[in-house]
Amino acid sequence: MIPFLDLKKINLQYESEIKEVFNRVLQNGWFILGKEVKSFELNFAEYCGVRHCIGVANGLDALTLVLKAWKEIGKLSDGDEVIVQANTYIASILAITENNLVPVFVEPDPVTYNLSPSNIKRAITNKTKVILPVHLYGLISPMDEILAIAKEHNLLILEDCAQSHGAIIKNKRCGAWGDASGFSFYPGKNLGALGDGGAVTTNDEALADTIRALGNYGSHKKYYNDYLGVNSRLDEVQAAILNVKLKYLDKEIDKRRYVANKYLREIDNPFIQLPEIFDESSHVWHLFVIQTKNRDLLQKYLNERGIQTLVHYPIPPHKQKAYCQFNELSLPITEKIHDKVLSIPMSPVMTDEEIENVIDALNNYNM
Ligand SMILES: *Cc1c(COP(=O)(O)O)cnc(C)c1O
Repeated sequence: MIPFLDLKKINLQYESEIKEVFNRVLQNGWFILGKEVKSFELNFAEYCGVRHCIGVANGLDALTLVLKAWKEIGKLSDGDEVIVQANTYIASILAITENNLVPVFVEPDPVTYNLSPSNIKRAITNKTKVILPVHLYGLISPMDEILAIAKEHNLLILEDCAQSHGAIIKNKRCGAWGDASGFSFYPGKNLGALGDGGAVTTNDEALADTIRALGNYGSHKKYYNDYLGVNSRLDEVQAAILNVKLKYLDKEIDKRRYVANKYLREIDNPFIQLPEIFDESSHVWHLFVIQTKNRDLLQKYLNERGIQTLVHYPIPPHKQKAYCQFNELSLPITEKIHDKVLSIPMSPVMTDEEIENVIDALNNYNM
C-alpha cells in the first residue's frame, strides 16, 4: 500500500533528536510556557520574517484568537464581515462565526483554488473589515494584490497559513504579509508536531500582547485577568519537537517539490486535470490535488491498486449541517471543485518507486 502520508516514517527521520529534546524537557521539569516555547517562537518568527510569534494550542485557536484580539482592541465588532474563499476547510469559517462575525463566502479562482482579487472587490460592503486568504493546498495567495485592495478599503488581513508554512511570493513568506496570520502544527501539516499545536505571527506588538494574554486566561500577570480569555497554549514538549523539525522544513519542502515536479512532468491522461505549474517558491505542496469527472471511480481504482487518496474536501462549509443558515447559498465553482478534487500521495518521504507507481496507475486509468 502506498500511504497518502506516512507520518511514522516522516517523524522517525528525526528519532534520535526528538528523543533527546523530549528527555531535555522531562529533565527540566517545566512543561507550560517555558524556554522551549520561547525559543520556538523566536525561531519561527525569524523563519517567517516577522517580529512576533505566539504559540497557541492549535490552528483553529490561532485564527480565532486573532479575531478575538481585534475585537478586544476595538478594531472589530459583532456583525462585521470577513471575506473568505468558500472552498476552505471549515476551521477558517469557525474562527469567524465563533467571534460573532459574518463570513462572506466568495468563489475561489478555479485554477489556484485561492481568493481571487476581482471576487474580493465585488464582495466588499460597508461592513467589510477583514480579508481572510487561505493559502490552500500550500499555494500562497496573490498577496501583493490583496494587500493593495486592503489598503484602498482600510481592511485588515488575516492569513490562514495552516497548509502553507514556508511558501513565498515576491520574496516574502506567508505569515509576513497580513496584519496577522494563523498557523497549524497538526501532525499532518508540513510542519507538524506530535500532537496539536499552532501559532500566530504578526508585526503588531499590541496585537501580539493581547493574543498572549487571551490564550492564557486573559492574563498578562498570573491571577490578574484583563480579558475573558481561554486556555490555548503551545506546550514545551511540542515546542521542543517543532524546534527540531523547523530546521528541516526547507529540506522537506524541496522533497515535496521533487515529487510534485515528477507528477507534473509525467502524469499524462486526458481524464485527469493537474494543478497549474506555479512559480517554484510559491507552492509548498501540502497537498497535490488533481481533478477528474468521476472522482469516486478514480479513487476506487487507485485504492484497488494499493494507492491511498483523500478528498480535500467532500463538502464545502456552506453546505455543512452545522451551517444550515448558509445551506441555500449558491456557489457553483466551489461546489464543482468539491465534486471533482482528489488528493494523491504527497510527502517528503516517498520513494522514487512509489512516485512511479502512482504515475503509472494514473496514466493507465481510462474512465
Ligand atoms: C488544519 C487547518 C486549520 C486548523 O488547524 P488545527 O490545528 O487542526 O486546528 C485551519 N485552516 C486550514 C486551512 C487547515 O488546513
